[in-house]
Amino acid sequence: MKKVILKKKGKTRAELGHQWIFSNEIKEAVGNPEAGDVVEIYKGRGEFLGLGFFNPHSLISIRLLCSEKREIDSSFFKERIELARALRNSIYPNLASYRVVFGESDFMPGLILDKFEDFLCLQTLSAGADRLIGTVADAADEIFRPRGIIERNESAARQLEGLPPRSGILRGCAPTALYIEEWGLHYGVELLEGQKTGFYFDQRENRGSIRKYAAGGRVLDCFSYEGAFALNAAAAGAIDVIGVEISPRAAASAGANARLNDLQGRCRFIEADAFSELKRFADAHEKFDLVILDPPSFAKTKRSIPSAKKGYLKLNRLAMDVIREGGFLATASCSGHLRDEIFVEVILRAAREAGRALRLVEWGIQAPDHPILPAMPETKYLKFAVFSVT
Ligand code: SAH
Repeated sequence: MKKVILKKKGKTRAELGHQWIFSNEIKEAVGNPEAGDVVEIYKGRGEFLGLGFFNPHSLISIRLLCSEKREIDSSFFKERIELARALRNSIYPNLASYRVVFGESDFMPGLILDKFEDFLCLQTLSAGADRLIGTVADAADEIFRPRGIIERNESAARQLEGLPPRSGILRGCAPTALYIEEWGLHYGVELLEGQKTGFYFDQRENRGSIRKYAAGGRVLDCFSYEGAFALNAAAAGAIDVIGVEISPRAAASAGANARLNDLQGRCRFIEADAFSELKRFADAHEKFDLVILDPPSFAKTKRSIPSAKKGYLKLNRLAMDVIREGGFLATASCSGHLRDEIFVEVILRAAREAGRALRLVEWGIQAPDHPILPAMPETKYLKFAVFSVT
């Protein structure tokens, strides 16, 4: 088998629980390993460390697979998927739709597997996982016996691994009409057309928690996608809920989801840019009891942190002007590069500029079907804060 020998003599980050080995940690690659190959990893003195996916074109040269010598085949993935599923089953014994595999956090680097009722959706974000997508599909097929497995591989993250965009049906069929349930609400999911893999499971718990700030009030859900925060607010008894979403397809699905749950009387969606809509509401002196901000990632790379901070500042500053005295701001960031303290600092600055005072009443993270490896900060990305604004 092809081998990679590391430079470091002391404890490597990988031995402390991190799942990546970077190009500058490698002394030598033996046998010309190529992108996507499984390699044996040895420390400088010859001690065996484990197996990993190799990619010479990525800064992340190796993604760890296991610490023993074994075949990386269908039974490997079956074991790992069963382990991942066991965690979800113990947390969510009654859920039919959730993220089954969250890549490195489930010891399957670069692999994302979502379950939507009787269908599965796969993403492969590393060259190694991409090469074995058929093996993974076989393993998942045996475990779940789904009606279909869909591949959704258009993520920009694939470019870093030199992988082309791709989507389609891997096994079985595509669903004609697919509905999932969360907190008693129903959503139509389009597996082949929706964003990411169809539904943002990572905000599940946070969507549940905004219910206590919504009852009886007027709510503005910015970046609403298919309306999940907005519908939770309406279901909790908000009188008037407005969702703002720039994608025509998502805004239309949000409207359809409101009707599906018979909440269309209290919940409507506007197809618009959230920044300009917030400005428009402020100019019209409109006020809300709860404003939700769940924008896409503004910091996709470390280098874009300064511009991302400006984006969050502008957005949260605009929101301050439409929150009534004593109302709530539920604000999120899914930029993993932005640290918690920096995010809070930006919100605080927005409040100061607006002459408002903040009290943090709730802090949320990604849902537990997106577990975090304590030794790998890269697996922690979602921040969700609820502030009382006076
Ligand atoms: N809150 C949603 C997920 C939001 S994802 C949920 O719980 O399911 C972010 C959404 O913001 C995407 O649907 C994207 O289309 C939308 N978006 C991106 N830029 C936007 C903008 N400038 N104004 C409004 N929506 C925007």
